[in-house]
Amino acid sequence: MRYYSARNKNGQAVAFAQAALAGLAPDGGLFVPETLPEYPRAVKTSLPAMSFHDIAFETIQPFVHGEIPDATLGDMLHDAFNFDAPLATVGDRYMLELFHGPTAAFKDFGARFMARAFSYFRRNEDKPLRILVATSGDTGGAVADGFFGVDGISVTVLYPKGRVSPLQERQIAGLGKNISAFAVEGSFDDCQRLVKAAFADESLKKRMVLSSANSINIARLVPQAVYYATGAARAMAETGKPAVFCVPSGNFGNLTAGLYAREMGAPIRHFIAATNINKTVPDYLENGVYEPRASLPTISNAMDVGAPSNFERMTVHWTLKRLRETLTGVFISDETTRGTIKSVHNRYGRFLDPHTAVGWAALDALKSTGKITGEDAPLGTLATAHPAKFAEIVEPLTGAMPVPPSLQKVMERNVTADTISADVSALIERL
Ligand SMILES: *Cc1c(COP(=O)(O)O)cnc(C)c1O
Repeated sequence: MRYYSARNKNGQAVAFAQAALAGLAPDGGLFVPETLPEYPRAVKTSLPAMSFHDIAFETIQPFVHGEIPDATLGDMLHDAFNFDAPLATVGDRYMLELFHGPTAAFKDFGARFMARAFSYFRRNEDKPLRILVATSGDTGGAVADGFFGVDGISVTVLYPKGRVSPLQERQIAGLGKNISAFAVEGSFDDCQRLVKAAFADESLKKRMVLSSANSINIARLVPQAVYYATGAARAMAETGKPAVFCVPSGNFGNLTAGLYAREMGAPIRHFIAATNINKTVPDYLENGVYEPRASLPTISNAMDVGAPSNFERMTVHWTLKRLRETLTGVFISDETTRGTIKSVHNRYGRFLDPHTAVGWAALDALKSTGKITGEDAPLGTLATAHPAKFAEIVEPLTGAMPVPPSLQKVMERNVTADTISADVSALIERL
């Protein structure tokens, strides 16, 4: 499979490894595959009976064919996906639980696969690879954990000092070994600015091989198609019908991966694109006009994106007409999100994190219009993070919630970040 820039279909196409290690195309565009593969007919019909790892293999293999041998890919997937994505039933719907990985959010799927793919692609290089990543919270933890202990690669995470939760800080800066962290005296935007400046620094380029690991990387996107295929296959096994999935969305990487899985032949009937008030994509689906804007802060802050990067991927593959057939946009206010966390807890004893609650509320909203009933298709919502990650928002609405042992363990780690000023030279002299 070859990959080209979403901004230039006629530009130079590159291999998966090159697209993954570069992150962005030279013209600043996101990499997209030249075609979307389809499962072979025999695979498509047997998906409901297949294991998570077999579905993972069939989903990812066409994207890396000829670059990662099948046996290596199989081992890589067992190692990366050492946790499941169970399809639970909560009340009137399915819930695809994506928070069973080490940092308790769906980003573990992408980050863990990407780490192993990078390590494989760099296997014959003697210069270590240095990954620089700026984070507002969730991404840094997933990337740090994904690359922890991976040979030949080290990671440096920059996060805004005092602006991530204590749990997030320990996920980012509590690992040690090949993972280091800087607490920047500034905002997330400052962290991003420092990373960009470091990439542009000629003296640094001579000293080390730098790469990034942000969420627009194709190596993070492709593995996310896996849980859609397994979730849909399990719903199919139980109901005999293709599913409708509601996806809490910000930068739209998660949803784009779902669209890839559907295009490959996973039994998915329709998607709901659920956003908070950062409703650029729901507005586009309604008016046909794409208007990126500044992001507004909400309680589902991993979805506070006003100019979603993956939008350019979606519009390269699909026309507006096609997107409207496949996708319904719904946006949800913080007030409704809070009300949903409360009512789902009251009714079912389930704790929802604020992002998952946006998805839950969006499905409710569509059901109440009668556009979606649940009779034609099993309805599912994606649980993108464990509620304990956002306890400061959830617990005032529900009362105390149990914290899983894996997250309790993280709280015992010591934070070992150096504090630096939001100044490029401060960063460069410490790298
Ligand atoms: C990153 C994130 C999202 C948004 O996913 P996108 O791929 O950016 O649309 C939603 N929920 C949680 C918990 C996240 O960490």
